[in-house]
Amino acid sequence: MASSFSACAKAELCKSIPQKSCCALAECFGILLFCNSFGADGIRIITESREFSQRLPKLFRKAFGVTFDQQPDEESSGKHNFQITSPEKIAVIMEAYGFEPNGTLSLHINLPIVEDDCCRAAFLRGAFLAGGSVTDPAKAYHLEFTTVHQRVAREAYTLVQEVLNFAPKSASRGGGQVLYLKQSDQISDCLAYLGASVAAMGIIEAKLEKELNNKVNRRCNCDEANTSKVVVAAQEQIAAIRILRERGVLEQLPDKLLKAAIAREEYPEYSLSELAAVMEPAISKPAMNHRLKKLVQLSQEVSQ
Ligand SMILES: [Zn+2]
Repeated sequence: MASSFSACAKAELCKSIPQKSCCALAECFGILLFCNSFGADGIRIITESREFSQRLPKLFRKAFGVTFDQQPDEESSGKHNFQITSPEKIAVIMEAYGFEPNGTLSLHINLPIVEDDCCRAAFLRGAFLAGGSVTDPAKAYHLEFTTVHQRVAREAYTLVQEVLNFAPKSASRGGGQVLYLKQSDQISDCLAYLGASVAAMGIIEAKLEKELNNKVNRRCNCDEANTSKVVVAAQEQIAAIRILRERGVLEQLPDKLLKAAIAREEYPEYSLSELAAVMEPAISKPAMNHRLKKLVQLSQEVSQ
C-alpha cells in the first residue's frame, strides 16, 4: 500500500530523536495534549504511523525515564496502541509538567515548557504526530491539529500564531477542537517549521504543478477558441473567392486583392498574421484582414 502524504510527513519528522532533554519533554507534552487520552486515570496514544510508534518509547524514556505499560509489537501494522496505567508513572509525567497527579485542574499548555524556540517547535511536532494530519496536496490543501482539550486548543492557537506569524482556523468537531490551515504557503511553512522540509517542498511543488496545469489549460482553451474562429473565417473567405471566380470577377480584381485571394486558397489553415507574412511583399495583419474582408464583401455584392 502506498503511504499517504501525511504518513510520509510523520515519518520524516521521526527521523531523529530530540538531542536536548528540554525538547524531548516539550515534544511529549505536545503528544500528550493532542493524543487520544491523557488524564489521572491513564494515558492512551493510538497511531497508524509505524515511525511514530517506534519513536514513542524512546522519547518517553528520554523525557521521563518511563516505559509504556502496554505497547504494540515492533512488527505490528495498522493501529499501534500505547498505554500507561500505572499511577506512579502517571504521577511522574504529571509532575514533570507541573500538574497535580490527581488534580481536577483542566490541562493547559504550561508556558515554561514551551519557552524556548527549540521547545516550541518540538511541542507542535508532538502535537502533529499525535493529533495531526496533512492532506495530499494533489487533492486539497489541509493540515490540522486535533485535541480534546478546549483550553489547549486556545493556547495552541496563540502559539501557532506566535511562531508562524499567521492564525490557524479553528472549529469544533465531534467533541474535539480542531486547528487547521487551508493555504498552501501556510501549510508548507508549518511543515518546514515542524522539521518536515521534504513534505513542505512537496506542498510547494504540488502548487506549482497545479498553477502550470491551469496555465496550460487556459492556453489550450484559448488556442482552441482562436483556432475555430480562424477556421470559420477562412471557410467564409474561400467560399467568397469561389463565388468571385465563378462570376468571372476574380481575374478583374486589383492585383492586391487577387494576390490575397490566391494566398488564402493556397493556405486555407493559416491565421491572418501567417497569411500576411507569406504575401510578397509581406503586409501587415490589418492590411491582410482588410483585403480578405473586401473579397467577402464583393462576393456578397455579386451574389445579390
Ligand atoms: Zn528545547
